[in-house]
Amino acid sequence: MITIWKFTFDVDDTVDITIPAGAEVLPHVHAESPTSLSVWARVDTEQANATRTLCVAGTGLPLHTAGDYVGTAVVAPFVWHVYDEGEQRDAGVQDEQCAHCGRCGRVRTPQDHAYTPVQVITGGAIGWYSGSDGEFCGSCMTDLIRRQP
Ligand SMILES: [Zn+2]
Repeated sequence: MITIWKFTFDVDDTVDITIPAGAEVLPHVHAESPTSLSVWARVDTEQANATRTLCVAGTGLPLHTAGDYVGTAVVAPFVWHVYDEGEQRDAGVQDEQCAHCGRCGRVRTPQDHAYTPVQVITGGAIGWYSGSDGEFCGSCMTDLIRRQP
């Protein structure tokens, strides 16, 4: 079902809320109290839960976000500006990104580029190896290659 849910949270630099994946945070912020805010989001209740990160900053305070502006709540003596940083990618949920290094157990991230043999010749950074004999992260691959006579 597509519906609108309300999310109330205490003011903090960053706030993680649990919300169905792909939700659209609506452009409005309401102050429940000087240090408690609410936002509303259009959600698909059939979607699995995801962690959504919101950033809150007061006027004149450092703003550490490149997220989408949600809205501003004016609540004396504060003015709170809320930004939506988007969904955190949960490696455990996304099967195709859930490769584990067979040696150190590290989970592959989108930053792990793929291994190609030419990296050994050119001395380039060794990428993530993924083959029928297993998965190895870049640093384990580097170790394994250097051990060879
Ligand atoms: Zn490894």
